[in-house]
Amino acid sequence: MRREFGAVALSPAEQETEAALRAQVTALAEAAGVPQPLVILALREQVNAYALPGAVVMTRGMTALITAPAERATLLAHEIGHLVLGHPELAMRRSRHSQYFLQRMRRAARRQDTQEAARLYVQAACSGEIGLAEERAADIWAANLLRSQGYKGTATVWQHLQQAGIHSGANHPEYQERIRIFQP
Ligand SMILES: [Zn+2]
Repeated sequence: MRREFGAVALSPAEQETEAALRAQVTALAEAAGVPQPLVILALREQVNAYALPGAVVMTRGMTALITAPAERATLLAHEIGHLVLGHPELAMRRSRHSQYFLQRMRRAARRQDTQEAARLYVQAACSGEIGLAEERAADIWAANLLRSQGYKGTATVWQHLQQAGIHSGANHPEYQERIRIFQP
């Protein structure tokens, strides 16, 4: 977790990538009229993007695989959709792992160990469980936003992930369905 967030400084190229993601998220959030979330480039090679309370995260592995701005916009809009629909908080309330880490966080906070408390909070946030219905809802929200903003070529991201052998995940709609949802 320390390696994933913060303890390691970003290289100039990574700073540029993160700034590009931030610019895209700013444009999407403004178009949707929703608060601008924190944008984090996570230093992991695993191909992933996810939403934490108030934050959108994309891994370095994902930015290396998905480079077209319209395809990144699909992923970012999906994560903003999760935030707008309140999914990360719901996912934490639902997850027994999250509740376990929050309990340990409160104990660490009581003994004034704020660094450990912060680490446990991140672990709790990362242990949320988002379900299939929420994934589908975030896709539909994102597709509507992108369509209203005239984005083209947003559906092909799912083909690229599938071709790269990245699994959609048991709690996500199948790629075929996601391609249909993002069809112009
Ligand atoms: Zn999702």
